Amino acid sequence: MKLRMNPAGIDLQKDPWDPIHSLRKYGQHVLTSIEMTVTNLCNMRCEHCAVGDALVWKEGPKLPLKLMLERLEEIDTLETISITGGEPTFDKRNIEAYILPLLQYARDRGLKSQINSNLTLDYERYEQIAPFLDVMHISYNYTNVEDFLAVGFERSGREVPHRQAAQLYENMVENTKRLTKAGLFVSAESMINYRTHHKLPEIHQQIVEMGCQRHEVHPMYPSSFASNLPVLTLEQTREAIHSLLDVRDEQIWMLFGTLPIFHCSSDSADHKLLNRLRTAPHTTVRNDPDGRNRLNVNLFTGDVYVTDFADLASIGNIHKTSLQPLFAKWMTHPYQQLVNCHCDAASCCGPNLLVKDTYYRNTDFHARQAIGS
Ligand code: SF4
Repeated sequence: MKLRMNPAGIDLQKDPWDPIHSLRKYGQHVLTSIEMTVTNLCNMRCEHCAVGDALVWKEGPKLPLKLMLERLEEIDTLETISITGGEPTFDKRNIEAYILPLLQYARDRGLKSQINSNLTLDYERYEQIAPFLDVMHISYNYTNVEDFLAVGFERSGREVPHRQAAQLYENMVENTKRLTKAGLFVSAESMINYRTHHKLPEIHQQIVEMGCQRHEVHPMYPSSFASNLPVLTLEQTREAIHSLLDVRDEQIWMLFGTLPIFHCSSDSADHKLLNRLRTAPHTTVRNDPDGRNRLNVNLFTGDVYVTDFADLASIGNIHKTSLQPLFAKWMTHPYQQLVNCHCDAASCCGPNLLVKDTYYRNTDFHARQAIGS
């Protein structure tokens, strides 16, 4: 069976954002990925937004691009960059001043690149970026405009007219179709949460119809805007994943990430699901890059974070320090030590901090080991 075109040329078995590959290559976690927050502006206010508390309606100047490029150039192990926001293209001046030069830098150096966008604005701004970009990453958690209105503007603090939401929804769908048709690799991410867990097959079908080459699926964890949303049980999460695998289109790449289910579990239901994921066609489970092989840089302050959402305080600033020494410092941090396990036969390098905090507060992962891999 042939996989639908993967224009980014990313090998499923060597997903460059998955820290397991650099861990194997170097024998320890190294910094291979930098995510840059280029704006805190956004036309939406999604209820699950991982950076929702940082969003603004007006923002000040950014760091000189030169400084960011110098810090990237210093990282000899760098393999990928990601550009995130807010909506990175919200202020069109960002495209020429930051986004295109960063993507061009990545292309020239042979790095893979990703932008996280909502694709709801005019097509021209995305068309401008597409030739230099490897992965266009969008969120897609909807089956219709009503879902989009309920999820996408929940935290806007004002009534958003149905007509306005419908226009943005239509833009997103049409932009995605046009971009995938033009050959761009679009990866649509859905969250497994209290709204979506019974709707994933329908959401998947719409993602396939938009021509996306990859469907990314991650459980939602309580952070930032999502802090007070209901959390699913592990059983509900497993059921949701099974329901999706029952119907998914085998020609597109299914990428599951930040799963709260591990090979060291004593629950046979976890092993049943993990085995299904391991043998399903064109399906991968990504270890979370945050704090494993990736750091996030805020391009306004220069502050460096372990994740793009700031529940953990900044670990340093690029005005003063290069990124590899900051990463080395993070590797000795007590929080990192909490989740720094590794079972190579299971291709697993431990839970991320949100997963541990949500489901495994009292579990010592260092005392566990993958079973039967
Ligand atoms: S690496 Fe950690 S989380 Fe993964 S199977 Fe091993 S002990 Fe469990």
